[in-house]
Amino acid sequence: MTNNTSSPINTSPYIGRFAPSPSGPLHFGSLIAALGSYFQAKSMDGQWLVRMEDLDPPREMVGASKLILSALEAYHLYWDGDVVYQSKRHDLYQDQIDKWLSSKQAYYCQCSRKQIKQSGGFYNGACRDKQLTSTDNCSIRLKMAHPVERFLDQRHAEITIPKALAEEDFIIKRRDGLYAYNLAVVLDDIDQGITQVVRGADLIEPTGRQISLYRTLGHEPVSYLHLPLAMDGNGNKLSKQNHATAIDMRNPKATLLNAMSFLGFEINQEMHSASIDEIIRWGCQNWHLKQLPSQIEITPRFSNGVS
Ligand code: GLU
Repeated sequence: MTNNTSSPINTSPYIGRFAPSPSGPLHFGSLIAALGSYFQAKSMDGQWLVRMEDLDPPREMVGASKLILSALEAYHLYWDGDVVYQSKRHDLYQDQIDKWLSSKQAYYCQCSRKQIKQSGGFYNGACRDKQLTSTDNCSIRLKMAHPVERFLDQRHAEITIPKALAEEDFIIKRRDGLYAYNLAVVLDDIDQGITQVVRGADLIEPTGRQISLYRTLGHEPVSYLHLPLAMDGNGNKLSKQNHATAIDMRNPKATLLNAMSFLGFEINQEMHSASIDEIIRWGCQNWHLKQLPSQIEITPRFSNGVS
């Protein structure tokens, strides 16, 4: 069949994701990340995957994964495919670490947080050449081969990262045996074919390390879009750690419209009488990056759903 339109055929389908850590129920701040990533994916006819980042059991809340998924359903944010759980993917992470250990790209380190703090706050490579072996009290670090001091964010343009941070050999497995967030997130994003990462601006800084991991692994990095962070009245990020209130699951409309307004949509009167499905559809059709506030942190003007 002839293609009569002049627009190019999209040959690389968009795959986005929402990757919550189940440390508590969905709150207004995490709803922003869910909605922003959903609109960005669906406005491009892309897929939107959900990945539970349940890597850190001591910080998790029993039942939070289920609560988060029910909240997404209550807001009619339906994901594509099956939900992926990081707790079931330890082999993927360990295999990569083993490869790096045997090629000497990764090494055991016994420096404590306190020692690092005392030596200026950045890890100085003290254990690089010590040839430590697996002991109970070691973390594993990756030799930094591709320091990233700047990258382009789709909304915030160029982001710069302090040199000392960019050059640090960072931890890929903690001394308590837990896999590090940066490692798991990149291995999963690659494995799931993610093409763009859309998430809260609190993760701008680790992005440099994540791009360096792509380079070390010989993969083209994804593109990044960081959304403004919702702050509480005291200047703290709304987070599960700060006990942000769970969003309203029974009457989602007010919170949904507040969240959309936070993301820069002009909510008209009609929206207040529309159904959740209609609002979400309208959001997908009217989502433009230009409307997204360029601030990194915002205290929402509305109080619904926010403690
Ligand atoms: N799991 C992280 C969080 O809940 C988000 C990770 C990401 O989007 O890269 O803050």
